[in-house]
Amino acid sequence: MNTYRKPARKLEGIKPYDPKSMPAKVVLSANESPYQAPSELHRAIQSCVGAASLNRYPDPLAETLRRTIAQAHNLAPDQVLVGNGGDELLFNFVLAWGGAGRIFLNMPPTFSVYEHNARITDTRVVSIPRKADFSINEEAVCDRVAFGDIDFIVVTSPNNPTGNTADPSFIKRLLESSDAMVLVDEAYFEFAGATVLPWLNRYKNLAILRTLSKAYGLAGVRLGYLLAHADVISELLKVRQPYSVDTVSQLIGTCVLEQRAAFDRHIAATIDQRDLVFEALGKMGGVRPYPSDANFILFRLENASKVWESLYSRGVLVRDFSRERGLKNCLRVTIGTPDENRCFLDVLEDILAQEGDSHGK
Ligand code: PMP
Repeated sequence: MNTYRKPARKLEGIKPYDPKSMPAKVVLSANESPYQAPSELHRAIQSCVGAASLNRYPDPLAETLRRTIAQAHNLAPDQVLVGNGGDELLFNFVLAWGGAGRIFLNMPPTFSVYEHNARITDTRVVSIPRKADFSINEEAVCDRVAFGDIDFIVVTSPNNPTGNTADPSFIKRLLESSDAMVLVDEAYFEFAGATVLPWLNRYKNLAILRTLSKAYGLAGVRLGYLLAHADVISELLKVRQPYSVDTVSQLIGTCVLEQRAAFDRHIAATIDQRDLVFEALGKMGGVRPYPSDANFILFRLENASKVWESLYSRGVLVRDFSRERGLKNCLRVTIGTPDENRCFLDVLEDILAQEGDSHGK
């Protein structure tokens, strides 16, 4: 056939997720860590990977890694599920709690993968947009949840791309006001410190997502994990791909988590730099940075997409959100090394000065 049968109707109008990665001298667009693992740990990783039996399938549930994660969080191993990046676990979650006839409550602007996953699984999306300062419209969300028909909610804390954390008392209200599953996406938790982890043994409808892609510098490895009640994990086991986390990733993840204190320095440096970048952006005329508890900063300025292009043409890649709903004229910069951040700030300042000159003419 010179044609093919059309795929499912729900795919009409859907665009594939595009992280907009492009080659650049200074890459500050994907919220990755700018740091490799410290060299001693890097060597330990290489030696355990070198000894792996790659002819065998991986351990389907990554039991060693699962135990390491459980110990690190003071939980039982059956409260932990490991995935091929947090992305896979988000997809598993919508497979288990979404689908035709089910409802997901979303609070945009937030991580676009949630809505994408809902649409490709025929899950109905109820959107309660954030307020102008990107805080959650708590009253509207609680009123909607009170109807009792919401199946799951994702609270992203800190939120991507806005950087702000959710108020724990709001999360508690959600957990207590209905039996809807509340997935708290804590992908950036290490840069904020705030977590609802202590509540896991109190609320059966709470699940927490974490990743090794950000604070632990393993975006290239693809490892995330979900923490929840053992019964919730059992439901997720029904939808997951059996071998999605490969042997090499399991070994690297175990090595890194056993030595996780080695990353404290990198996390502290990123937090320091975030505060410096925030201050510097705030001093630039016409730039409004939004306070962030994560490893990135969202900022708003006139002609954002033109500024994005100028930054890119000078070797600095940031993420352009300026055409997204609720994010008009917004760009997001990931916090990099001090040199990378300096370069970003210098180039941006230069671009704005040139713009100012050309307007003055
Ligand atoms: N949640 C949020 C809020 C994110 O920003 C990301 C990464 N962009 C993820 C989850 C997934 O991360 P990963 O798949 O790399 O673990």
